[in-house]
Amino acid sequence: MSALKDRVMALVELYRDDVAPIVALGDPVLRRVAEPYDGQLDDALLHEFIAVMRRTMEMAPGVGLAAPQIGIGLQIAVLGDPATVPPEIAESRQRYPLEFFTAINPTYTATGETTASFYEGCLSMPGYTALVARSLAVAGTYTDPAGARQTVEFTGWPARIFQHETDHLHGTIYVDKMDPRSLSTTENYMRR
Ligand code: ZN
Repeated sequence: MSALKDRVMALVELYRDDVAPIVALGDPVLRRVAEPYDGQLDDALLHEFIAVMRRTMEMAPGVGLAAPQIGIGLQIAVLGDPATVPPEIAESRQRYPLEFFTAINPTYTATGETTASFYEGCLSMPGYTALVARSLAVAGTYTDPAGARQTVEFTGWPARIFQHETDHLHGTIYVDKMDPRSLSTTENYMRR
């Protein structure tokens, strides 16, 4: 049995009815390219692991979580956004609800030239936010937990979430792409 599988089993056992601790910026697991998922976990364990990831994301609360953020270097991310924000924010950000899903070995390519700059944050860097320019629309490709390869066109905020989480699985954090002079504490951002 692989060390990785052992670690996932231990994590699932520990946090079966709980949320897993979120790894913060500075931990090398966030800077490595995660291993592509290729059946390292058996199906039951994969589903238990996804359940821990989902609970951890929803309780944070967040709209996406990548496996390295709970210390596991596998290319698995969970995404889902109830988009419970005021209508004017929802409209300006094209932030509409994104139904929960799991993306295994995701990749994306921009569809079109349009980019949008908005403030985003990360559960691994709580208390900060910065402007990040991202493609407004991407074709996202990923494997679902049943093993089927999916390609989905994401636009607006869901496209941003998909890019942010896919980047995590390749060791990239939003601060690598931010406008550095926009970096702000969340508190100061809210005040302004
Ligand atoms: Zn993040």
